[in-house]
Amino acid sequence: MRQCIAVVGSGPAGLTFARVLHRHGHRVTILERDPAPDARPPGGTLDLHEGLGQLALDKAGLLAEFQALSRPEGQAMRILDTDGTVLRDWRPRSDHRANPEIDRGQLRDLLLGPLDVQWGRGVTHVVPTPRDGILIHFADGREETFDLVVGADGAWSRVRPAVSSVTPHYTGVTSVETSLDDIDTRHPDLARLIGDGSVAVYGVNRALVAQRGSGGHVKVYAQFRAPLDWQANLDLADVEAVRSDLLALFDGWAVPVLGLLHHGTAFVHRPLHVLPVSHTWTHVPGVTLLGDAAHLMPPLGAGANLAMLEGAELAEAIATGPENLNEALHAFEEQMWARASRWAKITTAGLERLVSPDPAEALALFDQVQSS
Ligand SMILES: Cc1cc2nc3c(=O)[nH]c(=O)nc-3n(C[C@H](O)[C@H](O)[C@H](O)COP(=O)(O)OP(=O)(O)OC[C@H]3O[C@@H](n4cnc5c(N)ncnc54)[C@H](O)[C@@H]3O)c2cc1C
Repeated sequence: MRQCIAVVGSGPAGLTFARVLHRHGHRVTILERDPAPDARPPGGTLDLHEGLGQLALDKAGLLAEFQALSRPEGQAMRILDTDGTVLRDWRPRSDHRANPEIDRGQLRDLLLGPLDVQWGRGVTHVVPTPRDGILIHFADGREETFDLVVGADGAWSRVRPAVSSVTPHYTGVTSVETSLDDIDTRHPDLARLIGDGSVAVYGVNRALVAQRGSGGHVKVYAQFRAPLDWQANLDLADVEAVRSDLLALFDGWAVPVLGLLHHGTAFVHRPLHVLPVSHTWTHVPGVTLLGDAAHLMPPLGAGANLAMLEGAELAEAIATGPENLNEALHAFEEQMWARASRWAKITTAGLERLVSPDPAEALALFDQVQSS
């Protein structure tokens, strides 16, 4: 089957889709809004699960390269009480490869490989036409037509309205993110607190989480229940004002824990939005969605994994599936919806327990995951 295919978005979903199609000898046009691969910081670290993200990389022929780059020791997880007492200190065995970590930037470069992305091509909307295929409208006023358009353009997808009128809603939990560089040299006390992987501290309706990436880079997330307009009276560019607001929010927590908030030089506000747990749509010939565009869920270690596996499965369905493209799309969507709905339930319940009025819930969830 030779079709003219476009994927909108070069995140984990879009790149895995394109890379697996490339492996099967198919061409795909990759349309990305960002003007260049390094136009914005790539973000923190991702844990890729054996049966999800790693399976997708296997389908792309990239598992060995991933294993060489990834950090199994990054799976380590320490949980502290708000007074700094260590409640759990879990370290992976050296052969434990269930969920090794990889920097997002490294994963992007691994997937990009020989792919040719069209940078700076922001899509505004997509219109299925009865005779001519799927029309893509671009921010610069241009238009192009394809047989298949795959929306892998994330939470605020511009492709999604072509198949579904649903939009993300706020969970009631917000996240403020900051970064620390060169932690082992500049902040050895914090480096010891975080260890090789992550440290998490859970209080009443709030949490502080720090995750180590490669090269001594650390992302710190302050998560708390707050109205969507929590920052309305705060200038987010005023780093000291945000810091003092956060320190007030976590008032009374142990000094070494609050150290995680003391050194960041910028704060990014990310209110957590989600799509409904079982988001489906009536099949539209020639258009489908992958990843966050299809099933945005709380960021609890599943989103990128699902996005990648879906990308790989859709590519295989197109390359090796039925001659009729829409039959292949339909079967793929049914499978994606069922799996995504299971994970959306798990991550939604997980967020409720991690940012909860009862911090013991977070610990119980950790123990449950470790023993499963
Ligand atoms: C703090 C945090 C930590 C997380 N940790 C993990 C983890 O450990 N494990 C895990 O599995 N998941 C994790 N996730 C979730 C994960 O990041 C997402 O689920 C994943 O990135 C979704 O991939 P995607 O390709 O669907 O979308 P995205 O990664 O959002 O990529 C979408 C791409 O589309 C482009 N785009 C957007 N709009 C347009 C447009 N109009 N035209 C053209 N291009 C466009 C964007 O620029 C982007 O490149 C985390 C999320 C957060 C916020």
